[in-house]
Amino acid sequence: MVKDYCILLGYKHSVMDKPCLKKVTVLGSGTSFGVPVIGCQCDVCQSDDPRDKRTRSSILLETSENKKIVVDTGPEFRIQLIRESVDNIDAVFYTHLHADHLHGFDDLRVFSYKNNKPLKVYLPTACIPDLKARFHYIFNPNSYQGTLPQIELIPFEEGDVQIAGLNFEVIFLPHGGVQSAAFKVDKFAYATDFTKFSEEQIASWTGKIQSMIASGIRFKNPHYSHSLIPETENLFKSLQIKNGFIHHLSHEVGHIQGNALLSPGCELAYDGMVIDLRA
Ligand SMILES: [Zn+2]
Ligand SMILES: [Zn+2]
Ligand SMILES: [Zn+2]
Repeated sequence: MVKDYCILLGYKHSVMDKPCLKKVTVLGSGTSFGVPVIGCQCDVCQSDDPRDKRTRSSILLETSENKKIVVDTGPEFRIQLIRESVDNIDAVFYTHLHADHLHGFDDLRVFSYKNNKPLKVYLPTACIPDLKARFHYIFNPNSYQGTLPQIELIPFEEGDVQIAGLNFEVIFLPHGGVQSAAFKVDKFAYATDFTKFSEEQIASWTGKIQSMIASGIRFKNPHYSHSLIPETENLFKSLQIKNGFIHHLSHEVGHIQGNALLSPGCELAYDGMVIDLRA
């Protein structure tokens, strides 16, 4: 099976024993408010289309060895994993620590509890003090009397990071006052919460990616910390992406209406969407 996946992903050299990325599931495709926004009566928030129901952005990666890696744990993390019938995960990768990407953190405890070992959590080195401060009761459990997640923190910088048998090529992108970690694994790439790639970053990934999920918050009105959908489309063009998916969407974007405005090879992601990398 490993052999098949790797051939289909375009490997020519001898990597038959090397695990590769098999499948990506979009756990959440919404911006930080989620869609619908609480109390909002707009057409998108009131839409019956399930693709207009967007939980906070996160993806699940599955390897040829059936290892599972979650990228970010937003407030609906538990609901997302139940929805996708995920019964175990092997690692978590954090792009950055904004609330919409982190605050499902406590729900990681189910995995260390059932596996009776710490869960591996990969995050940018610079994020560690902030994580420990925000979850002080987990990292300094003086008087807390509940079940706590057991976490093995593994800091990373830009460059190659090995997670569950896969090689993550990590780059940092500007995102308002912070940075967000994007990555490329095999011929798939993920970038959430960024304003733009540098020319060097574009040059280093161009022509190397088939499928990519990247954020684009809305069509108009520039945002100080997020790229707009047309900017993300241009990024896909520059990187020569074959299948580009845009997520982290606000309620200003309806799925059907928004998709109709996109160029060929580019579409809006939605909760539950699966990218089969064997295809
Ligand atoms: Zn976000
Ligand atoms: Zn709305
Ligand atoms: Zn963010």
